[in-house]
Amino acid sequence: MRDKLLITGGAGFIGANFIRYLLENTDYEITNIDALTYAANMENIIQYEGIDRYQFFKCDIGSKKELERVFDKKYYAVINFAAETHVDRSIQDPLPFIHSNVNGTVNLLEFVLAGKANKMIQISTDEVYGSLNPNESPFSEETPLAPNNPYSASKASADLMIRSYYKTHNLHLNITRCSNNYGPMQHKEKLIPKVITNCLNDDTVPLYGDGLNIRDWIYVEDHCRAIHLVLENGRPGEIYNVGGIEEKTNLDVIEYIIKELGKDLRLVNKVPDRKGHDRRYAINSSKIFRELGWIPEVKFEEGLARTLKWYLKKEKGSI
Ligand code: NAD
Repeated sequence: MRDKLLITGGAGFIGANFIRYLLENTDYEITNIDALTYAANMENIIQYEGIDRYQFFKCDIGSKKELERVFDKKYYAVINFAAETHVDRSIQDPLPFIHSNVNGTVNLLEFVLAGKANKMIQISTDEVYGSLNPNESPFSEETPLAPNNPYSASKASADLMIRSYYKTHNLHLNITRCSNNYGPMQHKEKLIPKVITNCLNDDTVPLYGDGLNIRDWIYVEDHCRAIHLVLENGRPGEIYNVGGIEEKTNLDVIEYIIKELGKDLRLVNKVPDRKGHDRRYAINSSKIFRELGWIPEVKFEEGLARTLKWYLKKEKGSI
């Protein structure tokens, strides 16, 4: 019999890509649940309907009652992608971030504790480590948590709950902390899709502050491969950093896309900086390389070419 996986947040960007990865590379039976917030896109997952080892339920992980329906069976693993994810929104209204990112994670942990899954992987973020100066070493798994905005604070809180359930109950739990993902199916509120869609519409492209904030970029498929390795071989209780080794300023990313699309650099429009904007994220992934043999395979130029191709096809209506 096939092992069953419960994927949460699979109508969002990374979850939908991970489901595609699983369908193409494994024979797991997949249950996908998503609350279908503004960030979800049913177009991302409609392609999987009809596949006999895939099913979807609308379900809010912040509600234990709703979760009871999907935990009517036992899973091999829960992989928790479901979250409120946009920093700007968390500054405007943090409560949905507590509901989904903190309460939702604890609800899932309670079902794992009750024996409804053998293991759980929490999909976290490098943002829990806070911000680096230009000359500081990249974040390792030992870097203290120092989140600077309500989104990263809610993700760090969830990570601490995971840690506490591992220490208290000795459950098989893992956390992955990944850098900025890009690729097909991302919501256009995020930097790379926003730049692409604005350019395609000849709209201006907003640039926060001086544009010199640095992010490490990873192609989403590389992230999916890392999560799969953690699912199969991660040691209980361990945290794994996952980075693309592609540090770039926001300005570099924006200008690169504008040039690739043959548009005018004058589309860039400086806007006031985000409050508390972290200056630099960079991540040391040597642990996942050492223990699980993972390294990123897709260079930024290649990943971006694939991403642009996907958005251009979407624009033409052929996806
Ligand atoms: P996304 O915003 O595209 O998707 C999140 C999905 O979760 C949406 O479909 C949304 O409807 C769903 N969701 C939200 N609250 C829910 C709830 N209470 N119950 C059920 N579903 C709910 O986000 P993403 O970029 O795909 O990120 C997925 C995960 O990866 C998040 O946990 C995020 O913190 C983490 N992460 C993202 C990045 C990145 O660059 N995108 C980097 C590192 C980590």
